[in-house]
Amino acid sequence: MSVVDKTIRLLPDQDIAAFRNALVEWFEGQAMDYPWRRTRDPYAVLVSEVMLQQTRLAVVLGRGYYKRFLQAFPNVQALANAEEATLLRVWEGLGYYRRARQLHLTAKAVVEQCHGVFPVEEKALRNLPGIGPYTAAALRSFAFEEPSPLVDGNVQRVFARLFNDATAIDSTSGIKWAWNMAGVLLDEARPRLYNSALMELGQRVCRVGAPDCLLCPVSRWCSAKDPASLPVKGKKTQITAVEENVILALDDSQRCLMAAEKGSRRQGLWRLPSRDAIKGKLLWEGSYAITRYKVALRVYEGHDIEAQNHESWIPVEDLESIAVSAPYRKVLRELLWDEES
Ligand code: SF4
Repeated sequence: MSVVDKTIRLLPDQDIAAFRNALVEWFEGQAMDYPWRRTRDPYAVLVSEVMLQQTRLAVVLGRGYYKRFLQAFPNVQALANAEEATLLRVWEGLGYYRRARQLHLTAKAVVEQCHGVFPVEEKALRNLPGIGPYTAAALRSFAFEEPSPLVDGNVQRVFARLFNDATAIDSTSGIKWAWNMAGVLLDEARPRLYNSALMELGQRVCRVGAPDCLLCPVSRWCSAKDPASLPVKGKKTQITAVEENVILALDDSQRCLMAAEKGSRRQGLWRLPSRDAIKGKLLWEGSYAITRYKVALRVYEGHDIEAQNHESWIPVEDLESIAVSAPYRKVLRELLWDEES
């Protein structure tokens, strides 16, 4: 008997139907009114899904990124035709620029290979660059109302607690189990509503840390003994502390020395230049986190500085129109424009 079969014995067929109804009814009465829930346009759904992959909802929505992006690139054709520098500037502040580049590639493929029309079939969607199992399922259920099981971090957390399952959610077996469970529990008649409800349950009720079990619409089917201890993660990320010393150098023509970022992930972005030995006054000190690094950033005044390879003197008034990595944008705003960011 498979792990799914064993787990599903906890929830017989008639209970699965009641579980789905309870979840969807709760959602219909409580759903948050997000703009991507008001559209069936697969392009707009895709933009929201890609933005929300590694960025909090409060940033995507509250700081206007989603709205600005759709104003700048209102449809898949507009995004496909966009210059990468323009795209990166609009994306600036969301981080993980690889997502923006992938989105660009997806848009180009839809235009070039599919005549600008998103395919509905899972296989055809997965053949597009940048579309993995989660994004394909999100497009299919949210834009096309197709019965596609869907698993994200919220759904994994709900399932781990619902079935009191301590399999590591980042292990191959944990991921496979969650996708299988999503398939078994899916409400095929209402995939858009059901998948949205499941994700929102994880966001708002069965939250990270302590869940709000008293308000949970599916508590009667829940086997969690100590929900706050679930889900279990296998791999622990080691954070490495590093130091970064950069300069802020202005010339007599009010130009600022900027360095082009290196590496495929950050190509097209600009940063303040680094120097090994710096004699100038310390202007700014702070820290930021990137992937598994915690970076202590110090910015010094730069005097008599020569531009090195990949560095350019850029007029200060043009700095707002180029894409600058987030920590350096913060520094520029605070030091050059005296703005809090
Ligand atoms: S009862 Fe609590 S732990 Fe169980 S699914 Fe609901 S919120 Fe999560």
